[in-house]
Parts: sequence; C-alpha cells; structure tokens
Amino acid sequence: MAATTVAPMSSSPADLVREFHLAFGLDARSTPTEISPDLAAHRGELLAEEAAEVAEVSVRGPLDRLAHELADVVYVAYGTALVHGIDLDAVLAEIHRSNMTKIGPDGSVSRRADGKVLKGEHYEAPDVMEVLRRQGWAPDRTG
Ligand SMILES: [Mg+2]
Repeated sequence: MAATTVAPMSSSPADLVREFHLAFGLDARSTPTEISPDLAAHRGELLAEEAAEVAEVSVRGPLDRLAHELADVVYVAYGTALVHGIDLDAVLAEIHRSNMTKIGPDGSVSRRADGKVLKGEHYEAPDVMEVLRRQGWAPDRTG
C-alpha cells in the first residue's frame, strides 16, 4: 500500500458532529459529565424542536423533508451526547444488544396486534449505567 494513501473521511455521526462542535466552539466532552442545568435544558429544547419537525412531516411528507428532519434529530442527539461526554455509539450498541434478545432461542418473536415486537421471556434490558461507567462515569449521588 502506498505511504501516501489518504484515509477516507469518516462518515460516522459521532465523528461528523464532533467536527461541527469543534468548528463552532460548542461544548464537547470526552467523559460522561453532569453539565449545568441551563446547558442541559438548551440541549433538550433543541432536540424537542427537531422531534416536533419530524412529527410535522411524518404523515404528509414530502419524503425529502422527512429525511432531512430525521437526520436533524440524529445530529442533535449525537451533539447532545457529546455535550454530556457520552459515547452514544456504545450506548446504541447496548440498546441493540438488548433489542435482539427479544428473539427467542428458537427464533420465535411475539408481537402485539399492531405489529410491535414484544419482550419475550429471554429479554435482557439494556444496562446503560454500566456502559457509562465503562466510559468513566462516576455519578455523584450526594448531590
Ligand atoms: Mg430541522
């Protein structure tokens, strides 16, 4: 392989959003951290705005608006995780691991009448606290 090979630009949401936060001087933490209530509320409002925009276009579209607003939700969610110092990819992996336990060992899936996949008897809840501890979170329970 040539020494001059340039790595392709990463397209993982976490990397893209970190680039955005660093470029614009927004908060970016590398360890799960309790942040100020004002900043936490601001991030929550940004996400609520984007979620409301998804709801607006969910039924009537058009499809490009829906795609745009869905991407905005993901972008702001990753940004909020970054502001709190949470590695969201690792949390997503844990949620996925848990969701996949909804399949029984025999491959059976129980569903509600509307099609929603239900938690079977082998379901394992996600352990998000453990994921954050592995990232260095040391919750201060004394307040
Ligand atoms: Mg939007």
